[in-house]
Amino acid sequence: MSENAQVIKNAVCTFCGCVCDDIELTVDPGGKKITKAGNACVLGKSWFLEHKVEDYPVAMIDGKEASLEDAIEEAAQVFVNAKFPAIYGLSDTTCEAQKQAVAIADYLNGNIDTTTSVCHGPTGMAFQGVGESTASLGEIKNRADFVMYWGGNPAEAHPRHFERYAVNAKGWNTPNGKDDRTVALVDIRPTQSSLIADIFLQIKPGSDFELLWAMRALVKGKALDSSVEERTGVSMEILEDLVERMKNCQFGVLFFGMGLTMTRGRHFNAGALLQLATDLNEFTHFVALPTRGHGNVTGADNVVSWQTGYPFAVNFNRGYPRFNPGEFTTSDILGRGEADALCVIASDPGSNFSRKAIEHIKSIPVITLDPKPTVTSQSARVAFTTATYGVNVPGTVYRMDNVALELRPAFESPFPSDEEVLTAIKERICELKGIKKNKKAAATA
Ligand code: SF4
Repeated sequence: MSENAQVIKNAVCTFCGCVCDDIELTVDPGGKKITKAGNACVLGKSWFLEHKVEDYPVAMIDGKEASLEDAIEEAAQVFVNAKFPAIYGLSDTTCEAQKQAVAIADYLNGNIDTTTSVCHGPTGMAFQGVGESTASLGEIKNRADFVMYWGGNPAEAHPRHFERYAVNAKGWNTPNGKDDRTVALVDIRPTQSSLIADIFLQIKPGSDFELLWAMRALVKGKALDSSVEERTGVSMEILEDLVERMKNCQFGVLFFGMGLTMTRGRHFNAGALLQLATDLNEFTHFVALPTRGHGNVTGADNVVSWQTGYPFAVNFNRGYPRFNPGEFTTSDILGRGEADALCVIASDPGSNFSRKAIEHIKSIPVITLDPKPTVTSQSARVAFTTATYGVNVPGTVYRMDNVALELRPAFESPFPSDEEVLTAIKERICELKGIKKNKKAAATA
């Protein structure tokens, strides 16, 4: 380490929903570059080590460099002149910024939605319909002796999930790590993750719901015929053995990913899995947790839920929040050509939404906040360059198990944070709309 290098211990990686908070960052003596990211996995290392402060303009209006003040004014004007403004993204920013975004949607009687709507939205719907039996990842590390992954590949998407929380992790009741656990994995094909599983069920595509329902029946002692194997590809012998192991463990956990939530059945699949966890609690302790992708997508669910009562796809057109995935999810609003202004925070719908939605994005004024140029920002009316959360910006994020963590940034950025930009836009919107201070305080409390 060079003489004046700064070391930040217990820094937080926000690259994925594991939000590892044991990272040791070494910052270059110039204070502009991270040279080491101890404890980080390959994804976390590239997140930290490839982070550079680029020489981008702080803001652009219609593709031309602009001052921050002019860009804030233009963004506020776009918002107040819109009849149906929509705000989207938010899973890669702090809870403090998310809170400001909800307040803007509220003042404008607009729409707010997060990237949850394209990943674990069905899980949010299932939670509201079925409820959840849950635990922190710390509790799972210390107690779980049966771990099942359904429809996910953590070895590649969440590389430290096994080591820190659920498979190799050594806890109070699991001092030998993996030797004290049974690990099962359900997927439609073998993956890097299935290599570590003691039991791997390769199921037929689109048969998750049927398999979960069959398992629920077996947990309740019902007899099943061979049609289960024909439909799911899993023999009754294997299924009965698996269910027996689940009923007889001390503490079981079902982790589930987008292979369950974004395939045929969607919220019915997630609901079936949550109900299976509930059924198993008749026999032992069982919990279920979604494995979340983006670093603070769980924070987005929490912040939008605190402020509106719903986790995503929330609409204020009538002056109060309404929740209706399919109607108020951003991809659907844009696909139907409804929104007449769009604000995107730390996301890039211009590169991954449907063709119809992207065509509509190109036809309306768009405001973007992102640390780097994106496809969406290239054609935005107003594009802000913002500092990167976790690397340059402090604040709060939520791990995938709903545990809140405080960020420990490595060095300062010349760019403002998402929270600062959104707060300034919100203040200007209030001035333009004549919203008084006491109403402002109530909406942002
Ligand atoms: S597992 Fe995720 S949060 Fe942890 S270091 Fe790797 S990328 Fe970062």
